[in-house]
Amino acid sequence: MSRADVTAAAPAAAVPAQRGILTTEAWLRTPSAAAGVFRVRPLPSEATASYVQRLATAYRLALPQLLAGAGITLAGHGTPRTTELHLSPAACHHIAALARIPLPHLRRALPHLAPLDDTHDTHDTETGAARWKALEAGQQPVRACTLCTRHRSQNTTDTGWVHRPPHRLVCPRHQQAAPDPRLTSTVRTRAVPELVAAHHAHHRLRRHPRAATAWTAARAITTRWYDHQQHLTHRRHTRLTRLCAVNPHLTTTHSASATLLARDLVIYPETVALAGALATLPVRPHRDTGNALNLIAQRLGLPRLPLNANDPLRVLLTHTHH
Ligand SMILES: [Zn+2]
Repeated sequence: MSRADVTAAAPAAAVPAQRGILTTEAWLRTPSAAAGVFRVRPLPSEATASYVQRLATAYRLALPQLLAGAGITLAGHGTPRTTELHLSPAACHHIAALARIPLPHLRRALPHLAPLDDTHDTHDTETGAARWKALEAGQQPVRACTLCTRHRSQNTTDTGWVHRPPHRLVCPRHQQAAPDPRLTSTVRTRAVPELVAAHHAHHRLRRHPRAATAWTAARAITTRWYDHQQHLTHRRHTRLTRLCAVNPHLTTTHSASATLLARDLVIYPETVALAGALATLPVRPHRDTGNALNLIAQRLGLPRLPLNANDPLRVLLTHTHH
């Protein structure tokens, strides 16, 4: 069966308003000869709403139509960028069957694919339920790499939203990044090749037992350096200028300045380098901060790193049992 046959068949079978409610099983039998054609793979750390939206797009349906066709009752309104979609256990099963992805695999990929609370579960074992839930600004997903998304969407869309962890800031293959949820387009990073090198260094660092705490400390320090324009200012300015030159949306997004929107990206190489140095320092207070500072300066590619008494790195080295 060709792809055209399947895409023509699916919407007709999936519109419940005209034909009565169709069970998931009945619907799934419709394109059975073309298993795999509608297989929509999740992106790592994808928002549930984003995934269901991509699935709907692959079937050429609106998200509410897809859910209705799968026998899932939808409450509320939302969009994948600012709102998350919560699915009942039955709805999770229906979506997994529809997507032809095993549910455990989906649960690993989609961090918010948790069941609704018990009070909602008792009556929906057959039909499934979904509801939109608003996300606070700090919880909103970021735009996923457009080429990775297209690749995992049967070429039907390049729009996906992910709750990405710090080590997935940059897509090294396609050289795109989404440093801030306020950006609705990704940032092209080819003009700053050290970002890909930092990505690989970050993944090596993650094997270190102290990687997570070192990362948190390093990011707080490099963020403060950036905000207060301390150390490495020329290097960061060059990066920001290059990024803005090929990403005009950085300077035309009105909710924040390019300086803020690109911050995580601009400080990324030094954050990874500093985290790497902090993770390998001996676990004890550093009476000899001079040696530690020499090591860190070297990792940052600086001849030396003069720090005033209030510098967050000096505070970390002298006052904490690292
Ligand atoms: Zn990619």
